[in-house]
Amino acid sequence: MAARRWPLTRTVLTAANGTTGAGLLLAMVTRTRIRRGRDGVLIAEGWRLPIPPAACFTVGSVVITRRSAEWLLHDDRAALLAHESRHAGQYAVLGPLFWPAYWVACGWSYAATGSWGCRNWFERQAGLTDGGYPEDVPLRPWLRRVRRRRSRRGA
Ligand SMILES: [Zn+2]
Repeated sequence: MAARRWPLTRTVLTAANGTTGAGLLLAMVTRTRIRRGRDGVLIAEGWRLPIPPAACFTVGSVVITRRSAEWLLHDDRAALLAHESRHAGQYAVLGPLFWPAYWVACGWSYAATGSWGCRNWFERQAGLTDGGYPEDVPLRPWLRRVRRRRSRRGA
């Protein structure tokens, strides 16, 4: 029951906290077409700007994609849409605080591994594989040294 109600709750919360409005505004300004998605998530298709480099990204309950809504709604992309929908859930909880928190998480992930996603808490919670991120990027040498020193001190 709770699981079935979550998409509606998520849609209401992202509307109330303004993040879906920001997504719609972004789509409007960039002339990206809004289409109906699934489970209360909207899809803005045909994103043309070079950043971010990903095939899709999410702002509130709006999943913005370079491809078409049909492409994203295809069964082959169910995992990717689920990943982006989990980001909408993160927006529902955090509201506009999502942005600074997400960028801190990106910075940490990049400093630790050289990948924006694989040590990023938000991407891990949304599912690394579903989002097309590698799971097994090794830590950078400096961080491995710090960890080794810590575990030696602990022993
Ligand atoms: Zn993601």
